[in-house]
Parts: sequence; structure tokens; C-alpha cells
Amino acid sequence: MTAPDPVSLARDLLRCPSVTPAEGGALALLQTVLEGAGFTVHRMTFSEAGTPDIENLYARIGTEAPHLMFAGHTDVVPPGNPANWSHAPFSGDIENDVLYGRGAVDMKGAIACKIAAVLDHLAANGGKPRKDGAGSISFLITGDEESVAINGTVKLLQWAKERGERFDHCILGEPGNVETLGDTVKLGRRGSQNGVLVITGRQGHVAYPHRADNPVRGLVRLMTALMDEPLDQGSERFDPVEPGVHLHRHRQSDGEPHSRRGARALQHPVQRLPQLRFSARARGEPRRENRWRQGALAHRMGAVERRRVLYDARTLH
Ligand SMILES: [Zn+2]
Repeated sequence: MTAPDPVSLARDLLRCPSVTPAEGGALALLQTVLEGAGFTVHRMTFSEAGTPDIENLYARIGTEAPHLMFAGHTDVVPPGNPANWSHAPFSGDIENDVLYGRGAVDMKGAIACKIAAVLDHLAANGGKPRKDGAGSISFLITGDEESVAINGTVKLLQWAKERGERFDHCILGEPGNVETLGDTVKLGRRGSQNGVLVITGRQGHVAYPHRADNPVRGLVRLMTALMDEPLDQGSERFDPVEPGVHLHRHRQSDGEPHSRRGARALQHPVQRLPQLRFSARARGEPRRENRWRQGALAHRMGAVERRRVLYDARTLH
């Protein structure tokens, strides 16, 4: 067994167009590499009504404790317009020692490094996790992290638990380092709470703006109310919470393309999706997330009339 070069493995992974929910060949590639090193590989597809089926992978070598598990995901966010990239998003190009591609940082590069390091370690130990025959190493890799993350790690862990898998330690290779490799080790993970703002305008002609109601004005006031006051002070290990705001949908009631000029521009209800990522609790701290329950958030947004706030029931803790 020869351990793979992490750079060529990363490039091979980057050439897999694994935009969620597509597997894109990424898990198949990991399966080939890990089986070649003696891992027992399981591929499973998880489903849930209203979401696309997603492929996942679990690979383990060894049967004994202690069991070190590496977790991660091979799916990536969409690349947008490929013409805006200096190198094609799924090329895996290298220029001036920089590797290009969607997912190079988050987190195909990390997966390639973890696998190359583990295979190096195995090669130095006669193909075993430990020379004395004890120990296990596994990879728990999902294809559902970047999107709704319904058919991913949570179900993988349930699946593993039902099989009696027990993990002693877990390393997640998400990119968290600020300046140099190894400068940050995160203990824990922030949760998030999502909501949808719906602001309804009133249509009218641009020549008579006082008779129309542009919903964008309400949106600006609302976002100011949401962002003006700090949501928290952060904690020892996590920065203060900042609302993340994403364009979610620009809905139109009459099906007209929104590029139509003039009066129609004033009629659209505007929707934005604010995402609050709240800090993890340190041991013994009060439950911070209580502060972002629906009532508290709605109070902040009370400055705007004609607004509705819809919450995502799947608040993560
Ligand atoms: Zn990631």
C-alpha cells in the first residue's frame, strides 16, 4: 500500500462536481482509496420527504478501542457563474502553489489531508491503527452539509449508534484556522436559528410614489433594528453572534419577470432569510439560545409594519 499524495487526492476530489445534493463521484473516490487501504466501507443513502436523497459514507479499519473518527463532508456550495472564476471551479488547477476549486478550503482539501495522513500512519504500522493490533480509525463523511443538512451527519451518527459503533474522539477538518495551519482548534460548534422575513409592499406607478409602498424601505428599517443592538457578547471560545442575511426569494404575485421596469418594481413582497448563529455554551453558562426565541426576535423587528416573521422549526442547538 502506498499512501496517496494529499495534493493529488485533493485535486481528484475537486474535479468531482459534488454540489449538494449531487455525490459527483467524490464518495466513490474515497471508497476506492479507503478500501485500498483496508477499510471496510459502507455507503448509505438517506431520505426524508421533501428533501433530495443524499449519499453518505462510513469507513472503519480496526475493531478495537480506542476509536478515532474523522468527520467531514464532500458536498460543496454552487460555484455561481463559472465565467467569474480565474480557474474553472471543478478543475483542481494549481498556479503559483495555490490550489483552485470549489471546496478546496471547505473541505475537500482537509479530507485529502486527513486521508493521506491516516494512510501514512497505517503504512508505518503494518497497515493497522496500532502496532499492537488495538485501536480503530474511521471516516464519517456526508454529502449533505452545505444545504439543508437533513440527510447527513445526524442520520449517519444514528446509523452508527444502531450498529453499536462507539467513538472515543472525533476530529472535524472544517477550515477554522485564521492565519496559519493549526492556529485554531475549536471545541464545539455554534447552533443556528433561521427565520424568514416577509415584507409586503403596495404596487403603484413610479410617477406617483407616494401612492405606492416600496417594501425595500421596510426591509432596511427592519434589518437595522435587527443588527443595531449586539445579540450577545460572545464567549470565551466563540465570537459574538452576528446575524447572517441571505437573499432567499424574490416573490412575485403575478409571475412577471422582475426585470420589468417602473411601477412593477414597487409591488414585490420582499423576503430575506436572516440566520442567527448563536454561540455554543461553555460549561455552566446559562442557555444563551433562550434569548433568541421567537418572542425576543419578533420584538426587535417590531419597528416595521406589514412584516411577518416565519421561523424555521428546525432550530439547531
Ligand atoms: Zn464545511
